[in-house]
Amino acid sequence: MNNFIYHNPTKLVFGRGQIARLPKLIPADKRIMITFGGGSVKSNGVYDQVVRALEGRDFVEFWGIEPNPSVETLRKAIALGKEQKVDFLLAVGGGSVIDGTKLIAAGLLYDGDAWEIVLRGRAEKTVPLATVLTISATGSEMNSGAVISRYETREKYPFSGSYPLFSILDPEVLYSLPKRQVACGLSDTFVHVLEQYLTTPGQSRLMDRWAEGILHTVSEIAPEALSDNPDYDVMSEYMLSATLALNDMIRMGVREDWATHMIGHEITALHGLTHGATLAIVINGTLRVLREQKRGKLLQYGERIWGITGGTEEERIDRTIAANEAFFRSLGLSTRLSEEGIGEQTIAEVERRFNAGGWNYGEEGNVDGAMARRILEACL
Ligand code: NAP
Ligand code: FE
Repeated sequence: MNNFIYHNPTKLVFGRGQIARLPKLIPADKRIMITFGGGSVKSNGVYDQVVRALEGRDFVEFWGIEPNPSVETLRKAIALGKEQKVDFLLAVGGGSVIDGTKLIAAGLLYDGDAWEIVLRGRAEKTVPLATVLTISATGSEMNSGAVISRYETREKYPFSGSYPLFSILDPEVLYSLPKRQVACGLSDTFVHVLEQYLTTPGQSRLMDRWAEGILHTVSEIAPEALSDNPDYDVMSEYMLSATLALNDMIRMGVREDWATHMIGHEITALHGLTHGATLAIVINGTLRVLREQKRGKLLQYGERIWGITGGTEEERIDRTIAANEAFFRSLGLSTRLSEEGIGEQTIAEVERRFNAGGWNYGEEGNVDGAMARRILEACL
């Protein structure tokens, strides 16, 4: 196991009715800016719960953070926050609102343009932020990462911001999610685990078992979470799985990959395809092309998650890669680029961007432009 420092300061406040705790969780003297997406919180009652809880408190609202939040919109929020002397941010929404708010938190204490923070890859000083989560997928409610887009140049990059002070997770708010969003949330959760798990075998039995626990849970609950009337306990398991998949817990002392995510970000930047939907496609190409490198873990993944035993190692790996693709298909998502009308033009552009940026991703740092092309060709 490699050396590591684990320090996750986010307080989780989980369960029904917990939004009412907001006034106890936010210090009384704060000038708050509450950030929102496009309005789903108005139709499902979350907005009313938040405003009722914060009655009598000093807050301004900022609306309109898009799915795949743009620096163009976030600059407006930063300007408003500076003008209003905001010193606490409450993100009410999904990964997009939370990620966007992480950039606002840094931008409020930065004199230059917010895109510089994204390009630098990390924030320095930040205003405290907290979240009321409305869609489970990214783990952004309990990690320091954020992914920001710049629409004018069709770019999308991650940066490291601050951890939320607290996050309220009420599974009941997930009932209003469209099924496709649940599918994309399950896909993102599953791939977060695979990015940390499908690396060199034998690094940590404990990390492997924790990761496998999340993979088992997600694959088991997926059909129920996607049913017409998912029950509270199923949505609770979904919600907590998504948070634990990317809150630093399963990456202690082990290597990580993230090539699938970095290629997926390019597909979103170029086509606007939802994050979880890009991963459901790209992961299959990654496993096919990096099959030798990932051999040991693919065998373990197949046996422990999909019950694949017997036959030669090559047959077991083939069946594992097929079972993996079948899982994403069972969520109702495309698993091939061609199903989304994406082809050679996009592959060439992704390859060009990787080469121009000198990017090398993946556990071994060998996913460069040529490898990204091979991965995308393998999911045509
Ligand atoms: P999202 O983009 O925040 O939300 C997707 C859609 O779901 C929005 O249209 C939103 O509508 C709607 N929605 C949210 N909650 C709802 C509810 N309870 N009922 C009905 N509709 C609801 O989704 P996300 O998957 O959480 O975030 C995706 C972003 O996070 C991507 O940019 C991705 O790259 C990034 N990401 C971040 C991390 C990280 O660690 N920080 C990791 C992976 C991905 P409204 O706009 O109306 O709210
Ligand atoms: Fe993700």
